[in-house]
Amino acid sequence: MSLVTVHDKTFCTYLTEKDIQARIVQMAEAINKDYQGKKPLFIGILNGAFMFASDLFKHLTIEAEITFIKLASYKGMKSTGNVVTSIGLDHDLYGRDVVIIEDIIDTGKTLHKFLPQLDHQQPASLKIAVLLHKPEALQHPLNIDYVGFSIPNKFVVGFGLDYNGLGRNLKEIYQLDGNNE
Ligand code: 5GP
Ligand code: MG
Ligand code: MG
Repeated sequence: MSLVTVHDKTFCTYLTEKDIQARIVQMAEAINKDYQGKKPLFIGILNGAFMFASDLFKHLTIEAEITFIKLASYKGMKSTGNVVTSIGLDHDLYGRDVVIIEDIIDTGKTLHKFLPQLDHQQPASLKIAVLLHKPEALQHPLNIDYVGFSIPNKFVVGFGLDYNGLGRNLKEIYQLDGNNE
């Protein structure tokens, strides 16, 4: 197990690069099967999901489109509950099979607030693919279709996820060390 310091906090390895990549391949296989013969539109949520979206998308063998939107609700290690859209959607979702790609679902507030806006455009279907899910932190009911890993309610960084802007470049996922919470 290795330790890494991001700003003032120490984190230790929680999921290795190998664990993450193997799980992403399985998720892509499930999606390939479910969307056979369809042409889904994937919507990656920036910033956190950029690395997961890229790796997941590489393993898709179906015809698919991808676009990105930018939403933010987190400051430091807490969700503010205030979801701000700073880059909006550039596609019409009417009649499309849509899959949201998100890095992590924590309280569920972000997607709970954002999904109705997408639904309003009447997509043919709307599913969620998320790399990490903290079931203990969930405050809003969400139907999550593809989950990479269910994890304990501890702050994590790496593989696209940041702590105040840093740590996104780490290839592994690190969990806040118990001693410095
Ligand atoms: P939610 O709205 O579900 O509470 O949180 C959604 C967003 O908060 C995630 O997409 C992610 O950007 C951020 N977030 C939630 N939990 C964590 C975490 O443990 N680590 C990091 N780095 N970001 C998190
Ligand atoms: Mg996110
Ligand atoms: Mg963040």
